[in-house]
Amino acid sequence: MSRDDAQGRRPRPPMSRRKALSSAVALGAMAALLATSVRSERVRPLPANRIRPPGALAEAAFLDACVRCGLCVQACPYDVLRPAGLGEAIPAGTPYFVARTQACRMCEDIPCVPACPTAALDHALVDIREAAMGVADLSDAQRCLSYSGLAYCHSCYHACPVKGQAIRMQQGRTAAGGLIRPAVDPDRCTGCGLCEQACVLDGAAAITVRANHLARR
Ligand code: SF4
Ligand code: SF4
Ligand code: SF4
Repeated sequence: MSRDDAQGRRPRPPMSRRKALSSAVALGAMAALLATSVRSERVRPLPANRIRPPGALAEAAFLDACVRCGLCVQACPYDVLRPAGLGEAIPAGTPYFVARTQACRMCEDIPCVPACPTAALDHALVDIREAAMGVADLSDAQRCLSYSGLAYCHSCYHACPVKGQAIRMQQGRTAAGGLIRPAVDPDRCTGCGLCEQACVLDGAAAITVRANHLARR
């Protein structure tokens, strides 16, 4: 007897137990693959020059909390923050800045922080001087004009919003023959990167901010 329906179509045959089982296994494998890829994305270390916004939680907690909405990026009046793109070395959509290109201006009212709807940027941060985005360091001392004795340069010092505390010009002969050099107090440095942006050298700065998880562990 024919089993065609009123329009003459044959009903879809029921899925065999074996086929149902193999489909379930395939779906499970796909879910496991996705979970593994998300996990592997999460454990990738943040490159040293990618700095999270003020108030960012520790990296693992930050990645859990950040919903990649971009509201902190929009709230930044200086266009300092940017969302990571696909294929970058950090999870796509997460906010960061590169100090040499555009350092954080350390806004008094820190508008990026309350803009975050999930507190991935900790709303308890109300004093920008308490921010711990990273730590500056004279990472390439031999190229520093003051350290090498080529010039009496203070540009990084003058750029610092916490000068005299986070950074000072330390007197004393250096190994390269200079008489003065910038010295950073990691406990007072906010990691804003204004010193790195201001460094007078061409190309890379002699003083650089390292990402918080690398500098403060
Ligand atoms: S403190 Fe100001 S300049 Fe720095 S990231 Fe936040 S909004 Fe931008
Ligand atoms: S990153 Fe540089 S400019 Fe910013 S607080 Fe630290 S020493 Fe000062
Ligand atoms: S601005 Fe650059 S070259 Fe000048 S003292 Fe600072 S680190 Fe050295």
